[in-house]
Amino acid sequence: MYRAYSIASPNWDDKLEFYSIKVPGGPLTERLRHVQPGDVIWMRRKPTGTLVIDALVPGKRLWMFATGTGIAPFASIIRDPESYEKFDRLILVQGCRRIDELAYAASLAAQTVDDPLVGEMASGRLQLITATTREPSAITGRLTTRLADGRIETAAGSRLDAESDRAMICGSMAMLNDMRDLLRQRGFVEGSNARPASFVIEKAFVG
Ligand SMILES: Cc1cc2nc3c(=O)[nH]c(=O)nc-3n(C[C@H](O)[C@H](O)[C@H](O)COP(=O)(O)OP(=O)(O)OC[C@H]3O[C@@H](n4cnc5c(N)ncnc54)[C@H](O)[C@@H]3O)c2cc1C
Repeated sequence: MYRAYSIASPNWDDKLEFYSIKVPGGPLTERLRHVQPGDVIWMRRKPTGTLVIDALVPGKRLWMFATGTGIAPFASIIRDPESYEKFDRLILVQGCRRIDELAYAASLAAQTVDDPLVGEMASGRLQLITATTREPSAITGRLTTRLADGRIETAAGSRLDAESDRAMICGSMAMLNDMRDLLRQRGFVEGSNARPASFVIEKAFVG
């Protein structure tokens, strides 16, 4: 059985890392959760996807908006030195239902600034902003609501501006649609490898 997965490890790594949900009764993840060292997993050879920096025109800040496991592709991007060569700042914004679901993002950001290869580049330039919808936290509410009311920009200390900023979005179909509308209202244009522009999107799952 095959399912789409985002590669969470950076492209220089010789190990592949994935960040997976466990869906109760899910055809793949009900089995995946029991995988042991030494078990064999088959993967297709050719990765595909739209969340690539080459699909964006140059800018100052790269904003990455994720809900849930939609953070996986950004785990790769924030550990890639090229991201820091192309952007002054990387702002990773993750929304989850509960606070305990934010643990991966926190450890990922901490590991990245300690990393021997990218740590120095990331230090002071990588920022993590998190929000929750079902439990109160520093930012409570949906990412789209908190972007629209300015809370996320206040936390980032800068405006999300189509002139200077670029964005990547990975989440549920509903979140992608809402975020796409918000960005378009602010003058952002969706890009692709063939026609780079100011933002790109990718589904985090089919639901
Ligand atoms: C482009 C793409 C990239 C993906 N990358 C990842 C990834 O990096 N990590 C990951 O865990 N999953 C990812 N998925 C989802 C993944 O393909 C599987 O759907 C998921 O692992 C569950 O598989 P399953 O067979 O157990 O259940 P499925 O039958 O595939 O899913 C059952 C239901 O669970 C819900 N669901 C599935 N995945 C998620 C999710 N990640 N978050 C919230 N709800 C979900 C959906 O509503 C779905 O209908 C991705 C999907 C796509 C299309």
